[in-house]
Amino acid sequence: MILLNPGPVNLSARVRQALVNPDLCHRESEFSELQNEIRARLLAVYALDEAWAAVLVTGSGTAAVEAMIASLVPDTGHLLVLENGVYGERMSAIAKAHRINRSSLQHPWQAPLDLDRIKAKLVDNPQITHVAMVHHETTTGRLNRLAEVSALCKARGVGLLVDAVSSFGAEQIDFGGIAACAATANKCLHGAPGVSFVMVRRDVLRSAARRSLYLDLANYCAEQDNSSTPFTPSIPVFYALHEALIEFEEQGGWRSRHRRYRELIALARDGLITLGVEPLLPFEDTSVVLNAFRLPPGMSYLALHDGLKGRGFVIYAGQGAFARTLFRISTMGTIDRGDVERLVAAVQQLNGSLETVTPQ
Ligand SMILES: *Cc1c(COP(=O)(O)O)cnc(C)c1O
Repeated sequence: MILLNPGPVNLSARVRQALVNPDLCHRESEFSELQNEIRARLLAVYALDEAWAAVLVTGSGTAAVEAMIASLVPDTGHLLVLENGVYGERMSAIAKAHRINRSSLQHPWQAPLDLDRIKAKLVDNPQITHVAMVHHETTTGRLNRLAEVSALCKARGVGLLVDAVSSFGAEQIDFGGIAACAATANKCLHGAPGVSFVMVRRDVLRSAARRSLYLDLANYCAEQDNSSTPFTPSIPVFYALHEALIEFEEQGGWRSRHRRYRELIALARDGLITLGVEPLLPFEDTSVVLNAFRLPPGMSYLALHDGLKGRGFVIYAGQGAFARTLFRISTMGTIDRGDVERLVAAVQQLNGSLETVTPQ
């Protein structure tokens, strides 16, 4: 089955094989070495120096996002969350669950982040100490304006916390303007689901809050710096991430992955446009990781999904209000041009059979 959903992804044979490496106790030196090497390789993805730490958390991407928000907004701080999709709204829900002082700037899901509104909000509300935003909003495929928002935050001395779960490893991230970003093993890095991580500037950990026991980022970092771990990690998934990071480096790092995704998404997009399927957003506004498309007229998501699944492809539905109108295609994982060409041919077949069944 070819997975075109935004994670988990199709694994390469070598990453899958790593899942069955020998049993290991997390209190033994073999585990410490594995963990240390994963942390060093994560820093290397964007060539970060020792001012930064990669902090691992056993859990899905949301665990890392929650650890970042619950830990990095100090008790006296105030968080502004920028929302233009499901994942921005989730960060507000996380802040609410931890009773963090907060405000949010809501945008329609289809809209770009409004830089003028963000700037005005920061100027009018000097109590804001941190801003949280999603880099690639997977709800719509939009790549949000990280560089611009980071410049606004920098100018006002506000810390920027980024959900980079669906962009880390495939899109440009300027770490000069951010305090931390959260990401996961099983999206653009092509590992298995079960471990996520926060890339954090070490100096911001000094004022970390201790709102959560399990998602206490400062505690994870201190333990991991000491080659230890506070709780039992998902060791098979650590093995897989380690192998995926070696493969990532051998394949040329994030720039090379960006080029490859771009080629695949352009192929899918151009092919679908030829069939009359409309993309939601202009290409220059989207990530290379995922694009959203309007369902062909007369075709339900279920019909498209089931028809494609019968032909070996898993696509992804729209979320919330978009559930009945959109479908999404992701380029992550071990897939190639041939897979995308077969996908487009399968959509053509389904569209054709639809026309003969329900002529309009
Ligand atoms: C996938 C994703 C997450 C995390 O989802 P999990 O199901 O917890 O892995 C968070 N943010 C974004 C933008 C995502 O695409």
